Amino acid sequence: MDKLGTISTMNRRTFLTTLSLSPLLANDIIDNSKDIYLSYHEYTTLKRLNNRLKTLRRYIGFANFNIVSFNEALYYGRNYSKIGAFTKDELSLVDKLFSENPNRYGFYGSMTCSNINNKISKRDIVKIPSTGHFLFKGTALDDYKKLKKDVGDTLVLTSGVRNIVKQLSLYANKLYKNGGNVTQASMSIAPPAYSYHTISDFDVGRKGWGYKNFTDAFASTLEFKKMTKLDYISMRYNKNNSDGVRFEPWHVEVI
Ligand SMILES: [Zn+2]
Repeated sequence: MDKLGTISTMNRRTFLTTLSLSPLLANDIIDNSKDIYLSYHEYTTLKRLNNRLKTLRRYIGFANFNIVSFNEALYYGRNYSKIGAFTKDELSLVDKLFSENPNRYGFYGSMTCSNINNKISKRDIVKIPSTGHFLFKGTALDDYKKLKKDVGDTLVLTSGVRNIVKQLSLYANKLYKNGGNVTQASMSIAPPAYSYHTISDFDVGRKGWGYKNFTDAFASTLEFKKMTKLDYISMRYNKNNSDGVRFEPWHVEVI
């Protein structure tokens, strides 16, 4: 069978087998035999959804994408041909990712937002210069200011307020990269209705560290060590937390 023939006759099972044979993934995944996957049809829909959300992000800009509401995203899709309207299949996948109880795939965190059309008012947030991110006024902003003072200028905000569309896009992208493995995706990114970034929390990192800020390596930085000595902040996702989320030393819990 030639290569094109293989791809066109590929069903979900062979597709998954191909993935499990990848040496790169095999090293990362210990036992994925009980993991829950999207169907092949859902996975192809996810690919289109993921691309549409990326186009939307480019169109409205990184910072606006953090806070755009779902209704606004639909509006941009309908009115700007470069983005294009979200299809019926994409919308039913969004509904599933937003509404489905994630307990069945090992995520036990609390729901933080039950309204897919959640609006974030500009009056309630502040843009943090040169980060492309926002923080909620009140405790979150106060905590961040205190952190900068106590830890130093090498501490940076790496993610702040995230409305449903942003959380959905992070989740969809992770799910796409994982080959549609919902169990694995929800260990590293909260499903769209379950992120504390939508209501309070934020992430910090070490200046210039890029993606490494979102790995265990952040726990070995001086910035993190200083943070552990402060009594006004705590980590939302400690090692072996009951939510089923990986260890996230960079994620600050706002109380
Ligand atoms: Zn976070």
